Amino acid sequence: MPIQSVNPANGVLLRSFTPLTSEALLEKIALAGTAFIEYASVPLSHRELCMRKLADLLVSETDELAALMTAEMGKPVVAARAEVVKCASACIYYADHAERILAPEPVEIGSNDAYVRWDPLGVLLAVMPWNFPFWQVFRFLAPALMAGNVGLLKHASNVPQCALAIEELVRRAGFPRGVFQTLLIEASQVEMVLANERVAAVTVTGSEAAGRAIAAQAGWLIKKSVLELGGSDPFIVMPSADLDLAVDAAVRARCVNSGQSCIAAKRFLIADEIYDDFETRFVAGMDAMKIGDPTREETEIGPLASAAQIDEVDAQVQAAIAAGGRLLTGGERMLGKGYYYEPTVIAGVSRTSAVYREEIFGPVALLFRVRDIDEAIAVANDTQFGLGASVWTRNDAEQRRFAAELQSGAVFFNAPVASDPRLPFGGIKRSGYGRELSAAGMREFLNAKTVVIAEPVAVIRSEVVAQSSSEGALADRGPVPFRDFLVDRAASTE
Ligand code: NAP
Repeated sequence: MPIQSVNPANGVLLRSFTPLTSEALLEKIALAGTAFIEYASVPLSHRELCMRKLADLLVSETDELAALMTAEMGKPVVAARAEVVKCASACIYYADHAERILAPEPVEIGSNDAYVRWDPLGVLLAVMPWNFPFWQVFRFLAPALMAGNVGLLKHASNVPQCALAIEELVRRAGFPRGVFQTLLIEASQVEMVLANERVAAVTVTGSEAAGRAIAAQAGWLIKKSVLELGGSDPFIVMPSADLDLAVDAAVRARCVNSGQSCIAAKRFLIADEIYDDFETRFVAGMDAMKIGDPTREETEIGPLASAAQIDEVDAQVQAAIAAGGRLLTGGERMLGKGYYYEPTVIAGVSRTSAVYREEIFGPVALLFRVRDIDEAIAVANDTQFGLGASVWTRNDAEQRRFAAELQSGAVFFNAPVASDPRLPFGGIKRSGYGRELSAAGMREFLNAKTVVIAEPVAVIRSEVVAQSSSEGALADRGPVPFRDFLVDRAASTE
């Protein structure tokens, strides 16, 4: 894809960029390699200062950064501002908690000392999508840089200005040169970066296709990978739910980021006895969403991010209708410039159809009627994805069953699924593997190095000699404690 910003609200080309040449790319990778070695001597307290400065910059420049996102990918400006502030919260979370997460962990193994220390892996490559152009990057960047890793960002081709703005923010926050660099490269150049021996690991947020291609290469190279891929998250409403709250949350959970979120609710599974009421209110809620110019404060749904995106969503809507779905509202592109798609609700799509298996990345909701909790769980799990599930029930026994039986990386009760720096975030099945955020996210790219400090060998050897001179001392003891096992090894490897 060409590296260019096109305003999706009107289709106007804002800026184009030439991809880095192979030589320029190699220079940047070499710089990252050197930066990692030098960064190791930067104390945690200094990294923390830089991270707090980064949070300050994000907060003080929220309006300009949000405007950039709105221009490049059409995010409604109120949501764009919230995204920038959320990035600042991730910086502060890791500035506050890195020392605790990175502290060596003593392990009790008898009389020897043992502990686990957390060492950075090195240069990390991050391949990122356009839908949350700042948040996706910051949830990688903040833990990586606090832990002493170094980042190389290959951002989506349609948000190059956001990518450059992030690099500039990191530089101005005081992080050493080369610790975080944006690579303006095409997808086809990722292979060369990952193959470079200076690059230790890769994290990918994006489509299954991208995840599969990059993880296959990483596996072949035996480099660590984390994948955050697509989702077809269920939003389940049971009879005990507060229906007013559930309907309102359902509309927002489907329309968040104009429907272009991996954790947006996509399949709505509604208990039979409240289904008709839910359907009527949900359709009214979708119709009431304010769609239009993303620079306006009141706009709730902006344009989809690109021409390709709206073509794909429209094709999926037509396929859903062809697969027996009842169109309850929407189902059309909106006239005029820009990539606007009507909020759409379709009920009863066949679960054997191809479109049911796909992720729909736009403001399009699929409704299903379910008999009871057994059917709700069965339909919820009838997907290749497993990112998050939102379940609306006030019944404790139901909550326990859903929590145990839903196949997903998260279950939220009486709330939409959301990411939070304090909570592990990630999926199972084809939604990917590994976690971001919290301590778990930081540790994905750390070496859990086991350190054992035995008693000095010279002392031990004399003990062994003394012991082995007494009849059958070592042979007849049966299973030996770990400390003594080390003693035995010290003697036998002499
Ligand atoms: P995408 O096409 O996979 O692009 C994501 C990134 O991967 C871009 O930087 C893209 O570069 C790059 N890329 C694509 N194919 C590649 C390949 N074969 N080799 C190397 N790099 C490649 O995804 P998208 O359409 O932009 O993003 C939407 C998808 O991301 C959805 O499926 C969504 O669910 C998922 N997502 C998941 C999460 C999560 O946390 N689980 C969060 C957000 C989004 P180019 O732009 O140059 O093609």
